[in-house]
Amino acid sequence: MNIIVQKYGGSSVADTDKIKKIAEKISKRVNEKLKLVIVVSAMGKTTDNLIKMSKEISANPEPRELDMLLTTGEQVSISLLSIALNEIGVKSVSLNAFQAEILTTNDFNEARIIDIKTDKIHSLFEENDVIIVAGFQGITNEGDVTTLGRGGSDTSAVAIAAALKAKCEIYSDVDGIYTVDPRLHPKAKKLKYVAYDEMLEMASLGAKVLHSRSVEIAKKYGITLYCAATFSNEEGSYVMEENIEQPLVTGLSVMDNQTQVVITNLPVDYTFVNKIFQSAANENLNIDMISVIGNGSSLNISFTIIDDKKAKIDEALARLSKDYGEYNVHYYSGFSKISVVGVGMRSSSGVAAKFFKAMGGIPVKLVTTSEIKISALVEEAHKLEAVKSLTDIFEL
Ligand code: ADP
Ligand code: ASP
Ligand code: MG
Repeated sequence: MNIIVQKYGGSSVADTDKIKKIAEKISKRVNEKLKLVIVVSAMGKTTDNLIKMSKEISANPEPRELDMLLTTGEQVSISLLSIALNEIGVKSVSLNAFQAEILTTNDFNEARIIDIKTDKIHSLFEENDVIIVAGFQGITNEGDVTTLGRGGSDTSAVAIAAALKAKCEIYSDVDGIYTVDPRLHPKAKKLKYVAYDEMLEMASLGAKVLHSRSVEIAKKYGITLYCAATFSNEEGSYVMEENIEQPLVTGLSVMDNQTQVVITNLPVDYTFVNKIFQSAANENLNIDMISVIGNGSSLNISFTIIDDKKAKIDEALARLSKDYGEYNVHYYSGFSKISVVGVGMRSSSGVAAKFFKAMGGIPVKLVTTSEIKISALVEEAHKLEAVKSLTDIFEL
């Protein structure tokens, strides 16, 4: 059986006309004697609106209840798409995560897929050509509904493709992977091939075109991802093993809403550093761009978090202060993290020099590097200037 997994994002299923158009597109593939698993997101801004409604009632909704709410979005779009397909004579059936047996951890709002049973999908293909599965959602061993984190439908699709050993195509409102988000830089170039490691960095550094967990799974199981636009025939991009000929820098990603946390005047006690990161991990907080500087008599620590996690980290630090006495914590918001990524950096020198040449007089607050990326924290007001000069200098 020749199976393909396709995923359509929120903007692709934003209204019933679009859903009908997607049904037509899918029917053409069915005519090529393919069986298709279609993963869809919630319609348009549904998930944002559901979150907004919950916040009108509570600033901190119970994570379990939030997931119960958010998963309704995908249930609307899977059923409408199935109705549209059956209407034009394509045999299809829709499944939520419970029915498709997408087993996850019980980390509500950020669950990870543990296993996907494929027996049901295989047996449904005996009677159907298309099986539509709700993206973004899962089910725990205890039968609770979970979600995989914002943008998680990509991960649903890739995990299903891995379980079925099928090809995976991701369709959205952009016709491929670009060197930079084309909304930020109109002259961004489309990449034909992107290596897994590059895409992983780009996604986790802010390029929301793919959920970073989806790229992790694709890499682990060797699934080539084809990313293209839903409503155009433009050739898209492939995310796959790296080529021999990789450019120095492949892409640039931007992540907004960054807060720098600066803790000063700490006693020189490195167990505290350990405690900070431990308590952040316990709260599932993502900490980045860490710097620890000791000047002999005291320690200064600085790191970044996403703005809306400020309250949580503040609580954690307040708890720790009971054991470690007085220290000063400052929060500075309004930053963006700008990163350049490329597996070609592994074998080249002088990338940092070029990076800072591009930054010119822009004040850089923090820098982190890995083998294949350089990230800088800059004020949001300098973001576009930095994007422009980095894309120029690295010929993106
Ligand atoms: P979907 O709803 O289909 O999942 P998303 O909105 O999550 O789509 O992702 C597509 C968006 O990702 C594009 O509209 C684009 O603005 C953004 N994007 C960010 N970085 C990149 C990049 N490097 N290449 C292409 N698109 C990018
Ligand atoms: N509907 C979910 C979201 O908006 C999942 C997704 O779009 O991938 O985050
Ligand atoms: Mg998305």
